[in-house]
Amino acid sequence: MPTVHVSLAHRSYDIGFAPLESVGAALASFDRISRCILLTDTNVAELGYAKRAAASIGEADILTVTAGEQSKSIETATTLWEKLLEHKADRRSVLVAVGGGVVGDLGGFIAATFARGIRFFQVPTTLLAQVDSSVGGKVGIDLPTAKNMVGAFHQPLGVLIDTQTLQTLSDEQYASGLGEVVKYGVSLDAELFELLEANVDGIRNRNAELLQKIVAGCCRIKAKIVEQDEFETAGLRALLNYGHTFAHAFESLSRYTLPHGLAVSMGSICAARLARRLGTIDDAFVERQLALHRALGLPVSPPPKLDVRQTLELMRRDKKTAFGKIRFVLPTALGQCAMVDDVAADDILKECEACFCEEIASE
Ligand code: NAD
Repeated sequence: MPTVHVSLAHRSYDIGFAPLESVGAALASFDRISRCILLTDTNVAELGYAKRAAASIGEADILTVTAGEQSKSIETATTLWEKLLEHKADRRSVLVAVGGGVVGDLGGFIAATFARGIRFFQVPTTLLAQVDSSVGGKVGIDLPTAKNMVGAFHQPLGVLIDTQTLQTLSDEQYASGLGEVVKYGVSLDAELFELLEANVDGIRNRNAELLQKIVAGCCRIKAKIVEQDEFETAGLRALLNYGHTFAHAFESLSRYTLPHGLAVSMGSICAARLARRLGTIDDAFVERQLALHRALGLPVSPPPKLDVRQTLELMRRDKKTAFGKIRFVLPTALGQCAMVDDVAADDILKECEACFCEEIASE
């Protein structure tokens, strides 16, 4: 089984690949744990994943929140802080987050803040959480008007990934994770992109061995970047955001009903087209990316009837905007990208109009 090491001085940790029943053994290697409390959501609880992990630990309580983004709220956080007290959690307790990105972000936030910070362990069960949100230590909750606006950097003790859990994901949630996987290939790793191109059937059939290889590859790419820019101060971590400038606007316009990875899939096609307009890549690049998205059943056009000016305005207000300039991560070659913040408003507007109004055929 592969292991990906994330090297961050005394905050270093391993991302291991093993069945859920190995969570207990993974935690046994850490000192002085007074008790383990698992956090999961209603859907994941129904699938029995948290119970299987808890059984391997021995004595462990399970807290369950309602599935969905709405649980990343201050109200849920308050309930959980109080529940931790009821369950006699103390500074030597470990919170184990078993679920998708919502449970991971929320659980990590609770761990970062309860008793001024306790340890936590991630057991991501969606593809998006396995390749992205469980790696790198960003944890947080939403404000009613701004997603992920309150949070911290709080690295986990470790991450355990059981890729078998991906078998129960809905097609939509699976595709959402694939949107992030393709993002890594196009913008940061040409070899991964070629592996995806060569294994479309295996990916669509959720071949377990292949998925483990792909997930481990994505974790390695993210870990390498996080190691060099843990707190997002050096500009490197922002390179993980290919397609995200457009995606955040699409998500916001959909009132967060559009799954994040699907928005990234749409956004990265828009970003590729913008790069072509600016002359950094050619037609063949855009066509190759489009072909992979289509082969994997990923969306290539923004949601219909988007208002171009409203989208532009939302991009201006994105929290990643620096000094009022809209920042894009744009491809420069397959597996390579650069941060660009001097795109003329007219070019953005024209590309939005082209992306939104021209039908990008999905077949
Ligand atoms: P999610 O956690 O809401 O999970 C999606 C749905 O799948 C939920 O209904 C969940 O109950 C269900 N589910 C989870 N595992 C399942 C399984 N194995 N089988 C069947 N159903 C399952 O959403 P997500 O896409 O995993 O994560 C999105 C969240 O991640 C957002 O809040 C986003 O802000 C956050 N995020 C964080 C980071 C980070 O670096 N911290 C990065 C990207 C995204």
